[in-house]
Amino acid sequence: MNPILLINAHGPLHGQAFTCVRFPLVLGMLGAQAAAAGYHCELLDFAAHGYDAQAFGAHVAEAAPAMAVVLFETPAAPAAHAVAQAVKAHCPGALTVACGPHATALPESTLRQFPSFDAALTGEPDETFAELCRAVDQGLAPSGIAGLAYRAGGQVVVEAPRPAPDDLDALPRPARVLRPPQAYSGTFPVHFLQRGPRLCAVEVETMRGCPYNCSFCAANSCAGSNTRFRSVSSVTAEIEDLVETFGADTIVFTDPVFVLHRPRVEALCEQLRRMGVRWTCRAAPHLVDEAMLARMAGAGCRHILFTIPSGDDDVLVRVNAPFTVDQARTAMAAARTAGIPTVEARMFVGAHPSETRAQVRATWNLAQALAIDVLDARLAVPLPGSPLYLAMAKRSLILENQWVRFVPWGADPPWRTEHFAPADLARMQAAMMRAFYQNKARRRARLRRLMSLCSWRLENRIMAQYINSLPKA
Ligand code: SF4
Repeated sequence: MNPILLINAHGPLHGQAFTCVRFPLVLGMLGAQAAAAGYHCELLDFAAHGYDAQAFGAHVAEAAPAMAVVLFETPAAPAAHAVAQAVKAHCPGALTVACGPHATALPESTLRQFPSFDAALTGEPDETFAELCRAVDQGLAPSGIAGLAYRAGGQVVVEAPRPAPDDLDALPRPARVLRPPQAYSGTFPVHFLQRGPRLCAVEVETMRGCPYNCSFCAANSCAGSNTRFRSVSSVTAEIEDLVETFGADTIVFTDPVFVLHRPRVEALCEQLRRMGVRWTCRAAPHLVDEAMLARMAGAGCRHILFTIPSGDDDVLVRVNAPFTVDQARTAMAAARTAGIPTVEARMFVGAHPSETRAQVRATWNLAQALAIDVLDARLAVPLPGSPLYLAMAKRSLILENQWVRFVPWGADPPWRTEHFAPADLARMQAAMMRAFYQNKARRRARLRRLMSLCSWRLENRIMAQYINSLPKA
């Protein structure tokens, strides 16, 4: 049986400071499905380790894959297509398959715009891919597979969406052996750096779906709003296995909102404390309080990320955020008091197209007032699949669909808002980050909290690189 290549495409921010490259769990899950169907798989991660077109072409020619699945987000779409072109050039018989949030949101236009892709997986791809593997093995056309888009007779056919799997415990665990955690050492962001031995960080998914519908977020286009949870025993068994097999000491929970179900968080904390691993997760301000955060800190939570799209309550309502500015303030302070060493806030410029200068200032004022260690101020990217994309496209605020420029920082975006031109948006984002990280009092406070000169210097070096890469004021 010819092998399957699972490929993570490289985006325009590849290799830049303040970016975080992690094992592509989705490809790990597809690897597990392919293995169950009898295929040998190989995982190539160009997002982590760069893309060498010549070496890749030679590799494809030698491997002669039956199928190549390319995972990508919106800004990596052109790079993903270059990978698919290379596959076709060196192994014309291989089926090339697009995968990820962009292909899910725009399956038909992805196949029309990028002719070297034969098919696209949409939604949660586990079972769709398992069915596709069986079809390819039997030499059948990929027709009639729910969740798939493909070409037939010069047309693009988009099959009906596949219902998301309900029982997450029944899914096979990601095939991490395809690219062990050690291959990702050094690709984690600055806020994971703590005193102690080198990290062995591993991603774990404990739930899928998010009940909220923040307008700037495209998460629901893949996993929907129906939340499904793995059992605590299943998550615990997986982490125990990761510790034993790979020496994992840090768990990166990839869940959209880890703290959604309090009794479950408490039960997981009990197990995490027993296992002695450190971990990081994403949370929403209105779902936490000091008691819960203290429990999490005591169970090894070293970093927590809150997405606070704006410092203005009116904007929060408009973007459908399920909390208020006051709740954000209270949650950050509680996380600090509870003893979580690194509290991060992700905030946006242009969260809503009607945002005014006063509202941007309110966001900056909140960033300064919050008890946070890391600020990730970004441009709100109107990603296909998000309500923001639809709203901005309808109002002709997206100037061009030049996907490679759909990035949260680093250049003038290809969109504008009602009150700001692209260059204004980029300038305000850069100014926020520059002011936050060049604040001497904040840097001194950070050193006190990190209690490690080495980590502090490294963090400052990475942030200086990042600041230098931003558009000048
Ligand atoms: S930003 Fe977070 S809470 Fe809001 S819809 Fe996306 S995943 Fe859910």
